[in-house]
Amino acid sequence: MSEPVTQPPAADPAAGRQDAAALDGRAAALDAQDPLAAVRDRFDLVTGEVYLDGNSLGPPTTRIMERLSDVVGREWGRMGIRSWDGSGWWTAPERIGDRIGALVGAAPGQVVVGDSTSVNVFKALVAAVRMAPDGRDEILVDAATFPTDGYIAESAARMTGCTLRAVPAGGIGAAAGERTAVALVNHVDYRSGRLHDLPAVTAALHAAGALAVWDLCHSAGALPVALDADGVDLAVGCTYKYLNGGPGSPAYLYVRGALQPRFDSPLPGWNSHADPFGMAPAYAPAEGALRGRVGTPEILSLLALDSALDAWDGVEVGDVRAKSLALTDFFLECVGALVPPGRVESVTPLAHAERGSQVSLRCQDAGEVMRALIARGVVGDHRRPDVLRFGFTPLYTRFADALHAARVLADILEGTP
Ligand SMILES: *Cc1c(COP(=O)(O)O)cnc(C)c1O
Repeated sequence: MSEPVTQPPAADPAAGRQDAAALDGRAAALDAQDPLAAVRDRFDLVTGEVYLDGNSLGPPTTRIMERLSDVVGREWGRMGIRSWDGSGWWTAPERIGDRIGALVGAAPGQVVVGDSTSVNVFKALVAAVRMAPDGRDEILVDAATFPTDGYIAESAARMTGCTLRAVPAGGIGAAAGERTAVALVNHVDYRSGRLHDLPAVTAALHAAGALAVWDLCHSAGALPVALDADGVDLAVGCTYKYLNGGPGSPAYLYVRGALQPRFDSPLPGWNSHADPFGMAPAYAPAEGALRGRVGTPEILSLLALDSALDAWDGVEVGDVRAKSLALTDFFLECVGALVPPGRVESVTPLAHAERGSQVSLRCQDAGEVMRALIARGVVGDHRRPDVLRFGFTPLYTRFADALHAARVLADILEGTP
């Protein structure tokens, strides 16, 4: 599904120039009113560059180097092994999990950080099948899912004796039947930027007696998520996109409090044991969210993430959502006004209720166009075959950046037939 970007009616060059000046004024006014404007200073950004790839890899915060040098130099270098207790390393996965929980509507004690999103998808799906009533032997997966979720779901289905069925996210609630154990759905489609209706899909899955596992990779940190209020069973997400934890920073797993006693991990490592240092031959699970842990936590990247989350101090997710929609609206408007007609088409829904925090434009020669954009300091990415992706991260992206990106895109597309 795609929707044409609004184009001005006629190409009167004088009107175009007026538009251009008016857009500068609008960008300046929007930036001047932005309640999040000062948060940009918390990030270490490249001067002169417009970074629109925070939905793939968020930039570092200004404080992360200092924190990491303390972790390496003092906590590891001087305190050594004593830091597992003395510096709070051992409990960091739950403590940092609670900080992420605050951003996704989860009360404390339900989120644990560790491993990759891929691994957490595996834990969540297999545990969900193990919790499902007898006779339920089907897993549903979002047909447009980020590929790793689909690969893992296929293996989880094979291992648990389930069949796997791919269904478009919007219809996944209606597709669930009496054999469905669980459905795995992406909250925001990574390619198109489409936002799915988490409360409605979750309610439909529950009505069919199935569990809901949500992948929040493209929504957490970009828009409000209400895991507790919406009755989500399990959720996973990564921390290196909108949460700026750094390349490969560990992912998180949410297990609804009421389900934790039945959460039977397919990866019961010693870190989730009730008495890890008892070193007992037999496994006995700990209580609570830490049942989702496996092995020794990734302390360096975990503590980098902890520091990165300070960028959220005093930030309301509601303000982030409002700015994200205003930024993507403004970018679409600038593209409509500046880019030669017919050269791009938005695959991101125009309806706010269906939009995540990115704009995906279908464009011929998208790979080359993105290379040209990056060469001119506008960093987005390209998804094959023909999609230009621009992530709008409200903590550090300005309206002037959106306008600049549209202008450079228009220049590039004017220069090519
Ligand atoms: C980014 C992303 C992932 C990444 O998984 P990793 O295990 O961190 O590589 C998974 N799922 C979705 C929906 C994503 O957007």
